[in-house]
Amino acid sequence: MKLAQYHGPDGKRDNVRFVKGEDRSVLDQAWDRIYVATLFSFEWKKTGDAVDFAIAAAGGQTNKVFVGGIAASLMHEAYCAERKWRGVRFIRGLLDSPPAEALQLDEFSEELYSDDVNGEPIENLIPDYSILSQVSYEYPVNDAYFTYASRGCVRKCKFCGVPKLEGAQRDTESLSRIITTIEEKYGTKKDLILMDNNVVASHRFREITAEIRDLGFQAGASIVRNERSIQRRVDFNQGVDARILCKDPMYLDELATICIDPLRIAFDHWGLRKPYEQAIRFSADAGLHKLSNYMLYNFKDSPGDLYQRMRLNIDLNEALGIRIFSFPMRYQPVNLKDRSHIGPLWNRYFLRSLQLILQATHGVVSGAPNFFRRAFGESEDEFAELLMRPEHFIFNRDWYEELGGRAEFDSYQNEWRKLTKENKSELIGKLSSLVPSQYHSAKFRSPKLRSILKYYLPKSHAELRELWNERNRQRSAYDLVSEAIPRDELVEDAGLKEAV
Ligand code: SF4
Repeated sequence: MKLAQYHGPDGKRDNVRFVKGEDRSVLDQAWDRIYVATLFSFEWKKTGDAVDFAIAAAGGQTNKVFVGGIAASLMHEAYCAERKWRGVRFIRGLLDSPPAEALQLDEFSEELYSDDVNGEPIENLIPDYSILSQVSYEYPVNDAYFTYASRGCVRKCKFCGVPKLEGAQRDTESLSRIITTIEEKYGTKKDLILMDNNVVASHRFREITAEIRDLGFQAGASIVRNERSIQRRVDFNQGVDARILCKDPMYLDELATICIDPLRIAFDHWGLRKPYEQAIRFSADAGLHKLSNYMLYNFKDSPGDLYQRMRLNIDLNEALGIRIFSFPMRYQPVNLKDRSHIGPLWNRYFLRSLQLILQATHGVVSGAPNFFRRAFGESEDEFAELLMRPEHFIFNRDWYEELGGRAEFDSYQNEWRKLTKENKSELIGKLSSLVPSQYHSAKFRSPKLRSILKYYLPKSHAELRELWNERNRQRSAYDLVSEAIPRDELVEDAGLKEAV
């Protein structure tokens, strides 16, 4: 959107076209420049396809293609090393220097705008909202000012790309200029989405919250849309840092003066329990009851660690009368080209099982105690047993636990109870080394394992469809459907559909 501002009607007055995906209608026209945005590094294959498509749209002239964004920055060498992309400009980091420099434009070959050596950095431009209407997909941020009050971070967490991408914590320019300019150009937006990595670490934190209030986002703020008054909301959508929040109730008291919704606090491992819990207690004291958090897993944690963190949220919900929703996020090293990483205390089978549980809940761990206990078990041991179940028993819980599949589930459980700890670990170890379509080839010496294997064999699509139809007919009183969470509060890509 900032690039569109640079080239668009208030900038260079070029003809700008925005496409999402491989829109073949662009192939009929000659383009001077094509920009490709990359995001997740594990989407190497898909972003590679987008780069290939851009080269095709540029008629094979790789020097017209510019690729930037997070993956292009974190995996810069890997992108540059691809021979077929020779000539493409892969941009590392932000476009925060004058355009000709940031885009590596060559004056000798008289490239378009290579003389723009003193212009405003593209990073500082106001996003052009008008391009969003060029695609049918409705971006959740369409009705939001989205910007930053600070960049970078004071920390260097090993699992995080921010230190490499953005470096040290620093302030950005005033929010007021950005928001009033967006308002003038594109009309008033309902929400304010701030993508700061660690806003509470900013020494301007109190000035930032004061500015947010002055901009019309004080606690309880509303706006009139279609003759109806609707609540505005502020979302620091990358989360805020419990290790700072826990030091002084001032932080939560300040955040409670703006219409923050939800308050997202990261809870990345059990070692953060004390600061996390303190931060949540301060939030409740400040009257902030709608909370959400990101929970990293598959890093150095174990399934038990994840369970305990989810469980603590339920306990806090019950004790404080608040509602915390969690979004477990599977760790992948930021330089890996796919999602194949398996943490030292996880295995492929457990990751698959958790993914199935989360698929049923749309990636959200509900804050409702009954819902949680049913989806994740009453205890760490129950959670571990759940992760070891056959896939279709996990995905169709109510069918197997309550409805027509009960007899099959009971006989599975009878056999399961007869397994020793070693048997279970051998079974899961073997299944982890295979993809489900290969489970039938697993060889075991133990007759108990040979016998229980039948429950793990994947069912055919036709069997699953029939099961699902029958399940819908017999549908029980409860269902594993999460409470409704507005779409713009969900995590856009939790990798729930990817193969593990
Ligand atoms: S505090 Fe958050 S943004 Fe900062 S390095 Fe750690 S995970 Fe990344």
